[in-house]
Amino acid sequence: MNIVWFKRDLRMLDHAPLSDGCASGKILPLYILEPSLWKQPDVSYRHFLYLQHYVSRLDDMFIKKGSKLVIKVGEALPVLKSLANRHNIKKIFSHYETWNKFSKDRDAAIRKWTDENSIDWLEYQQNGVVKNLDSRDRWSTLWHNYMRKRIYAVPGKIFCIPEDSDNLPSSQDLQLKFDGFEPNTNFGKIEPSIVLKSFLSERGENYQREMSGPLLSVESCSRLSTHIAFGTISIRTIFQRTQEQTKKRPDLVGDKIKKWQASYNSFQKRLRWHCHFIQKLEDLKSIEWKNIHPIYDKLERETAHSKNFERWKRGETGFPFVDACMRSLISTGWINFRMRAMLVSFASYNLWLDWRPTSLYLARLFSDYEPGIHYSQVQMQSGTTGINTIRIYNPIKQGLEHDPQGKFIKTWVPELKHMPVANVHTPWKTPELLGKYYSPIVDEKLSREIASTRIYLLKNLKTARSQSEAIWKKIGSRRTSENDYLKSRNRRPKLQKEFEF
Ligand SMILES: Cc1cc2nc3c(=O)[nH]c(=O)nc-3n(C[C@H](O)[C@H](O)[C@H](O)COP(=O)(O)OP(=O)(O)OC[C@H]3O[C@@H](n4cnc5c(N)ncnc54)[C@H](O)[C@@H]3O)c2cc1C
Repeated sequence: MNIVWFKRDLRMLDHAPLSDGCASGKILPLYILEPSLWKQPDVSYRHFLYLQHYVSRLDDMFIKKGSKLVIKVGEALPVLKSLANRHNIKKIFSHYETWNKFSKDRDAAIRKWTDENSIDWLEYQQNGVVKNLDSRDRWSTLWHNYMRKRIYAVPGKIFCIPEDSDNLPSSQDLQLKFDGFEPNTNFGKIEPSIVLKSFLSERGENYQREMSGPLLSVESCSRLSTHIAFGTISIRTIFQRTQEQTKKRPDLVGDKIKKWQASYNSFQKRLRWHCHFIQKLEDLKSIEWKNIHPIYDKLERETAHSKNFERWKRGETGFPFVDACMRSLISTGWINFRMRAMLVSFASYNLWLDWRPTSLYLARLFSDYEPGIHYSQVQMQSGTTGINTIRIYNPIKQGLEHDPQGKFIKTWVPELKHMPVANVHTPWKTPELLGKYYSPIVDEKLSREIASTRIYLLKNLKTARSQSEAIWKKIGSRRTSENDYLKSRNRRPKLQKEFEF
């Protein structure tokens, strides 16, 4: 018999392993809930809530087809061995998983077992990420080729082999503690096709202009990330639906045509970035735990759980915009790109905290946690890649730009509800009105300048530059030509201001 093993691909549409599995006869559709995965430091209560929802949604799809998703609770290898003892497993169909170290180690052990036991384990490409990529040079072409290939239809009939199914454990059984997650607008629980449709035809009109504002982005970004992270919809489906949509908008006239075109273009670019960042982790597994550029091992950032770390974690830094972002993230599980970058920048530069503990904390908070994007982005925003521009976000400037009236701040930092708008971004200037709110944890300007000096001292070393070149060859985006890259890497900072984003 054949197993179709569902992992982070909890869907039926555009599911090559399910399609091919069904075409080859009866299947056992399997989901394995691995208790030790839920003990990893990067997973959390909120991730589990989504998993429960998506697994039961997939089960409903099987029930509608007259069968059932088989859930097994246990470690993957013993579960598969036990199934092999009772059934004659010929093939396992699954997507190739590009997730964290735990999943890679587990898959290596399973590959060894399937090889030794003459079980054919067919792993299919899940998105634009290529296994064993030999060079980054043609990656973009490969990505486009993959996205244009046909979408696999939901199989008409599914014939399943009977097998007992376990109940999913509860979050308490897995000792996952409540983590403040109380989403108000939960796009993750709305059907992905509906979320996509509303973005492509209504919500996305001002995507480019509104994607960085903390209030407007809640509606004007696609909000598909949690679905994508659990695989309830494929990137290829999203890409092709967007392409189709660009062609069928006769309703658009005048200014609207330009606006929507800009939205569709930016959105499609980001779908490619999604895979581009995961490809980095695929090609350089240590991104999860080691500085991409080893020169930054000399930075000696704080790794221990300090007082500053705890205040940043709770949104009590005394910088209202930073605190509002953190508190909103704790409660909703989502915040836009710019705000994520600012949270990391503040921790890594102003507070001089090592990105490893901070990234794990954020991983647990992001309901869309995707290791390949997450660690690559965190390292980029911490200045440890050696191949990206250093960006130190000024949280006061960000607040004034993206929340000029302080509405977002007042929503999430109620201590400042009565603060006049003029001072809401810099409440320390009126200590008499500060009330229970915190004094700033650091001097923003001074801490930024010290961080910048420390980073550039290392970045400009000759030895650092030659290593950067090798890193760029392995994982750098080819959207920048090599010439551009070589030119930009020799550019030195003229003024501190240049690097204040
Ligand atoms: C420090 C940091 C950590 C991040 N961690 C994650 C993470 O764990 N998981 C995650 O999905 N995204 C992560 N991002 C990228 C980005 O912030 C989110 O993808 C985006 O905010 C998700 O919301 P959306 O689906 O509405 O995005 P949209 O703007 O609607 O974009 C659509 C999709 O494109 C992809 N995408 C968008 N922006 C990026 C980007 N900059 N890099 C790579 N892919 C992108 C995502 O799959 C996203 O769902 C991180 C960014 C930063 C700065």
